[in-house]
Amino acid sequence: MIKRTLQQVEEMCLGIGLEDLFYDIVVQGISIDSRTIAAGSLYVPIVRVKNGHDYVKEAIRKGAVASLWQNDQPNPPHDFPLIFVDDCVIALQHLASSYRKQLSIKVIAITGSNGKTTTKDMVSSIVETSYKVHKTKGNLNSQIGLPLTLLEIKENSEVVVLELGMSERGQIERLSRIAAPDIAVITMIGLSHLSSLGSREEIAAAKLEIVIGLQSNGVLILNGDEPLLKNGLDEMSLSKSIRIIRIGENNETNDYYASVIQQETENTSFLVNTFMESCMIPILGKHNVLNALASIAVGETLCVPTNRIRMGLAQLKMTGMRMEKVESKAGFTMINDAWNASPVSMKAAIGAFEELKGYSRKFLILGDMLELGECEKQFHREIGEGIDPNKVDYVFTIGKIAQEIAIEATKKFKDADRVKAFQHKKEAISEIRALIRPQDVLLVKGSRGMQLEEIVWELT
Ligand code: ATP
Ligand code: MG
Repeated sequence: MIKRTLQQVEEMCLGIGLEDLFYDIVVQGISIDSRTIAAGSLYVPIVRVKNGHDYVKEAIRKGAVASLWQNDQPNPPHDFPLIFVDDCVIALQHLASSYRKQLSIKVIAITGSNGKTTTKDMVSSIVETSYKVHKTKGNLNSQIGLPLTLLEIKENSEVVVLELGMSERGQIERLSRIAAPDIAVITMIGLSHLSSLGSREEIAAAKLEIVIGLQSNGVLILNGDEPLLKNGLDEMSLSKSIRIIRIGENNETNDYYASVIQQETENTSFLVNTFMESCMIPILGKHNVLNALASIAVGETLCVPTNRIRMGLAQLKMTGMRMEKVESKAGFTMINDAWNASPVSMKAAIGAFEELKGYSRKFLILGDMLELGECEKQFHREIGEGIDPNKVDYVFTIGKIAQEIAIEATKKFKDADRVKAFQHKKEAISEIRALIRPQDVLLVKGSRGMQLEEIVWELT
């Protein structure tokens, strides 16, 4: 965690106005939350729905030793160390960027439409077998979360694994410049944020911004099956002598690909072309094999020995709500994939679920996929069209747009009772309760805004 004098902090965050008598005070740690701030920290008040400046006094009471103060905010407190900045979020980013540059660590930055958190967890699990690792907690991938993650790096850390998220153009560029990665990963290009970005081309261009902050001679690991990731890359990579490693399904064009993929009830195993030994991940889905390939490529780039790469993957602990298996007291199983959903991730999860063996009956519980723009109905219909009635027993949808999935699925399922559209979670829960039996299995998936994990909690 960052430990610097206030004079150094002022310089690092490009602030001004700190009184000389406070120069030597030492700050340890940064917090944007006055409720949880630890004594000795620097408080960074953020102006959002609530204004963090209203809580500076509370932060002081809890032991903050200094605070940033945004120039446009009135009435700064007196007799307390303040560093004045134009924008607290940007100052936080400057501070994090400067701290990162002072450390001699390897930084791995992961972006992509889906699979960022999963790949972050896999990479960490592999790299932890050989190095002291610091990583993004949960999903803290934002313009604020990433700087906070960097500022928590311990001085003795050797590798940092970061998730970079975005909702509009320019955000990955900024995060990448702050993180200055040695290795960048683009997992895949999907359809998330289509409503704000407009096209898949724009989504790809937004993810490729990660190259801007990548170190010269850095390594870029990307999905080689995605043509959109080729455009615009050559010029950028040539100018920086970046080494590109391609991962994917195509065994002719990719540097890393898997074969003999086998999905069991709890895990998936596969062979990797670079070392012809079997790897096992304790999670379902071919899409997760792709995430594992990217993680293996990171491991090999960092010279982690093969046996440790395999061990790291085998002992993977995933962040919750990603194909998370939950056993109910009543004896049925739920696969909680409710963190998020977009057309690509929905198809991937349904595909893995359809191949799942060893259960009595299978229920798909699918919620709205949000932020898809004007073609949202079509995207939902395609999901309904793609469900195989021979591999799934019931399809329940929740939400206004998700009913389009049900409309299409009804056409394929002969027995009308097997497909139902609900507007609210409550109705769906009562119906599931009435039907479900021991040995059945449910897949629960929808966009973050749908919070379908509540169904899992209710039914556990
Ligand atoms: P977010 O943007 O919400 O942070 P993320 O990119 O971190 O998402 P994960 O949390 O790893 O993604 O996974 C979210 C869901 O995306 C998973 O539950 C899974 O269904 C799906 N998914 C994960 N990896 C892939 C992939 N490589 N291809 C397609 N879908 C994937
Ligand atoms: Mg994530």
